[in-house]
Amino acid sequence: MESTLTARDRVGVQDFVLLENYTSEAAFIENLRRRFGENLIYTYIGSVLVSVNPNKDLEIYSKAHMERYRGVSFYEISPHIYAVSDNTYRAMRTERRDQCILISGESGAGKTEASKKILQYYATTCPVTDHLSTLRDRLVQSNPVLEAFGNAKTLRNDNSSRFGKYMDVQFDFRGAPIGGHILNYLLEKSRVVHQNHGERNFHIFYQLLEGGEQNLLSKLGLERNAQKYQYLVKGCCPRVSSINDKNDWRTVRKALTVIGFHEDEVEDLLNIIASVLHLGNTQFGEGKNGENQITTEPQLKYLSKLLGVDGAALREALTHKKITAKGEEMISPLSFEQAVAARDALAKAVYGRAFTWLVVKINQSLAFKDDVYNSSKGSSSVIGLLDIYGFEVFQHNSFEQFCINYCNEKLHQLFIELTLKSEQEEYEAEGITWEPVKYFDNKIICDLVEGKHKGLISILDEECLRPGEPSDISFLEKLEDTLGGHAHFVTHKLSNGKTRKAVSREEFKLIHYAGEVNYSVNGFLDKNKDLLYRNLKESDMSPLWRFDEALVRHQVKYLGLMENLRVRRAGFAYRRHYETFLQRYKSLCPGTWPNWQGRLADGVATLVQHLGYKPEEYKLGKTKIFIRFPKTLFSTEDSLEA
Ligand code: ATP
Ligand code: MG
Repeated sequence: MESTLTARDRVGVQDFVLLENYTSEAAFIENLRRRFGENLIYTYIGSVLVSVNPNKDLEIYSKAHMERYRGVSFYEISPHIYAVSDNTYRAMRTERRDQCILISGESGAGKTEASKKILQYYATTCPVTDHLSTLRDRLVQSNPVLEAFGNAKTLRNDNSSRFGKYMDVQFDFRGAPIGGHILNYLLEKSRVVHQNHGERNFHIFYQLLEGGEQNLLSKLGLERNAQKYQYLVKGCCPRVSSINDKNDWRTVRKALTVIGFHEDEVEDLLNIIASVLHLGNTQFGEGKNGENQITTEPQLKYLSKLLGVDGAALREALTHKKITAKGEEMISPLSFEQAVAARDALAKAVYGRAFTWLVVKINQSLAFKDDVYNSSKGSSSVIGLLDIYGFEVFQHNSFEQFCINYCNEKLHQLFIELTLKSEQEEYEAEGITWEPVKYFDNKIICDLVEGKHKGLISILDEECLRPGEPSDISFLEKLEDTLGGHAHFVTHKLSNGKTRKAVSREEFKLIHYAGEVNYSVNGFLDKNKDLLYRNLKESDMSPLWRFDEALVRHQVKYLGLMENLRVRRAGFAYRRHYETFLQRYKSLCPGTWPNWQGRLADGVATLVQHLGYKPEEYKLGKTKIFIRFPKTLFSTEDSLEA
């Protein structure tokens, strides 16, 4: 007993519901810290898995580890992403219902790594026949391709996803993966033309320059030197110690082939990448008559060749604009600044479209082919994996943060709803009475943002379409008129006519579930007309093997983990089918050992009474036992695993 307690002290509890001081944030964080110190990066809150990024290889993702988690009950083995993967898979198969795994956390928290581990788990452990192995390989290989084009080094993460991804994996009645579909959104296109100091453009540019064969580069008119390209030099960071662009190029090229890209399609894609680099090097200067003209002819030549457009038309498009006045079409020259902006807009648009095309192509290759696999017809289910940006608050927050935080607000609503709902449903199904815990329902904030006509997004859209001279400030005034007085919306105006100092005249504040954020309305209208890009960040937030308490505390708060724990604690931490429970623990009680002959529920009651549980500490449902605080049963499980 003494050594068990020591082990428990050392490794903490593997499920937060077992934490004695469960309302204390300090105790919560201390538990994470202890476990992290023992290389135990995973901890449950019931069915929710909390993961702390170790930033080093822990060697806990081998095939042997995968095997260990196959078919094993959630709580009977150390917490792991594979346990969640397996549990989800089994739930999909036994309940024949679609499932979804939501992954959230700040940039660099490990969301993308987690989603890849889940996919690898399915690719390795699910049954596959020969003709399905191609699909399985394509599913896995879609990751390096999407990361090459959609991820970049930022100050927080050397492989930061600059787009959101929702991936459906489709399984047939035997549980074999038969198809997939990716939904992408919010690509940060602004990165194509500008990177903050210490950040890079999307990986693919560097991969192509480092790894591309010499004749390929010559064909594309490129030099093997990232320093030569204006779009790649702004962050002053062509090389990153944790990234091997040359190797990654090989991986991506191979992955494109596995996914089924034809050589000419790869060529088209690389033409676009190269043309973006040439666009960045396209310069403007004053001509003989004072007009603005392109001064870099070779770039224009390559651009027209790579994009397949007429050189003269391209020159015109980059230096002039078409306007319609009084029904007549007129061409007017662009100023130097306007030409630079037009060039950058073209580069962003071209890259954005290439990315969309890439996802369409990947989806075609992952699509469930009914004719080939018609044995699966009508009986497939899906597991969805969501990997998005996390909630973010900076010194200066704009439209980008607004979109990201709204997205997280919605995700949080879903998360709370799902965890609460499933909990309540289970108690109801088992005939257990329980008192629902009060929790903050962030629907009020979601409605504030998305409500029809009166929501922030509707008002923004209306203002963008309004004739006259709509501006960011007129938008802010509309917000004040419509939303002023809402408990979660604040501007500088106070109801008594005075002004509030904490919010400037160009800002509104939203009181989010996760905290208060001031948003500057500058650029809201323009940005709303385009796709999202994200502001650049001035932060150092370096991947060290250490427990960063501030980062952890912030996320414990904004992910609502304490609240989740409270909900979970109000119920029962441990539940097991009578038969499984008796089978596993009958040896602990002479009355149930070696075999219990009576009703299963009676056997379980005999067993728990023998273990010293008081009547208020457990409940017997229709098919399961529920234990509120199963200390003794759990205390040794992690130490055995560790
Ligand atoms: P972003 O929002 O910026 O995309 P993210 O949450 O997706 O961030 P990841 O890219 O998954 O973060 O993780 C950042 C880095 O942390 C990884 O590149 C990897 O080096 C490391 N990392 C993440 N999870 C693990 C893990 N389980 N084991 C070891 N290292 C990890
Ligand atoms: Mg990511």
